[in-house]
Amino acid sequence: MPRQPRVKPRNKMKIRKGDRVQVLQGKERGKTGDVTRVFPESNRIIVEGVNVAKRHQRQTSVRLKGGIIDKDMPIHASSVALVCSKDGATRAGYRVDADGTKHRVCVHCGGDL
Ligand SMILES: [Zn+2]
Repeated sequence: MPRQPRVKPRNKMKIRKGDRVQVLQGKERGKTGDVTRVFPESNRIIVEGVNVAKRHQRQTSVRLKGGIIDKDMPIHASSVALVCSKDGATRAGYRVDADGTKHRVCVHCGGDL
């Protein structure tokens, strides 16, 4: 019997890299930013300028610059909402066209997100 390859469960996320989102929970509630990374395995995303941690980095021979650097830390995908250009923070749905192509749309105005 061939061994089945183990696959990590990938959560279906509506948020993709490059999306504009608004933070709904936590101390940075209300902030908007662009998604720079998504982690479907943990349902987390990194939003530019949100949840920034100060990291104290030591100078090494490989990394010449030491000192304090800002690092964007991941936040849970459920604590943000996608931003529609018309409605602001919104939820996303999907629309399938007659030719079978799938579009992510705003649930309020139906416009493409
Ligand atoms: Zn909309």
